Amino acid sequence: MKYSEQFQVRPGSEIGLNKIDPDYTDEHTKKKLAVKEIKKLDRKLRELQYLLYAENKRSLLICLQALDAAGKDGTINHVLGSMNPQGARVHGFKAPSQEEAQHDFLWRVEQQVPKRGEVVIFNRSQYEDVLVVRVHKLVPKKVWKRRYQLINDFEQNLFENGTHILKFFLHISPEEQLQRFRQRLDDPARHWKISYNDYAERELWDEYISAYEEAIHKTSKKHAPWFIIPANNKWFRNLAVARIVAETLAPLGMQFPKPTVNIKEIAHEYHQAELEEEKKDKGNKKGGKSASKSNGAKKSDRATEHVKEKQFSEASESAEDPTAVIGAQ
Ligand code: AMP
Ligand code: MG
Repeated sequence: MKYSEQFQVRPGSEIGLNKIDPDYTDEHTKKKLAVKEIKKLDRKLRELQYLLYAENKRSLLICLQALDAAGKDGTINHVLGSMNPQGARVHGFKAPSQEEAQHDFLWRVEQQVPKRGEVVIFNRSQYEDVLVVRVHKLVPKKVWKRRYQLINDFEQNLFENGTHILKFFLHISPEEQLQRFRQRLDDPARHWKISYNDYAERELWDEYISAYEEAIHKTSKKHAPWFIIPANNKWFRNLAVARIVAETLAPLGMQFPKPTVNIKEIAHEYHQAELEEEKKDKGNKKGGKSASKSNGAKKSDRATEHVKEKQFSEASESAEDPTAVIGAQ
């Protein structure tokens, strides 16, 4: 079954997070056996994101929500790590700044939505305004209650403007959270992540879970679905999120833009010499002879220059060229 179906919250369905196993890993029994699939998915994601960027017609917004230490940072690192930084970015939402607090809650969010061709990941999102705000009673109930509808309208508008929206709740157990907090103590490189606030928020676990259940129930829509991702195992979390993103983008039928120039004419006018040279080299190789060195005297200066440039860019980009991946898939 597609993960985009298996983990999707159907619009209108009631959620009981305590009924969903955060240790679930499907048929993947251990990380070692999933590595191959994860690597393949990374290549696929890179290919799809490159197409989205090149096509420049639509965009993708990924909202990541979770309790502390559930792996938002790790997921971002993994998903964005497989993409080309040109056309993909992340935005984190903290407690509103003084200026942000003087506007409606969607004001700061609107400024960060993706433009055409872009992938944006929200590390926390508009949903904090029905989660932390509700749990800490930062606004009256009648105010945050209205926000589900406001968020639905906002996301509907984005969708109608060509933005695909995927919302992930990374589901961990309270025991796993405590274990991860504990591991941070042992790792000086992660000491900066530790705060008293994380431990205080942990006391409010049940309130947060209720807030998530209602938010997910009220805002999972066909055009902007929520996915509940079992996240006690980091590798499975990464695999599931990557798979859902790939399953969403792959069927969109994205196309490279049609060339705006006559490719044949360009090849003929500017690259004739080296194309002929390449043909000759190929012929020589077939005939068992080693490739002849380029005979610069026969070529125009422009063509020689181009060969040098091409060799340089091939050497420096090699496997990192996303077009190479597209061809290989
Ligand atoms: P972190 O993600 O660990 O850097 O923490 C960001 C903090 O900002 C979290 O405690 C969030 O709950 C808080 N935060 C994000 N959005 C809001 C909001 N709209 N109102 C209040 N607090 C928020
Ligand atoms: Mg935190």
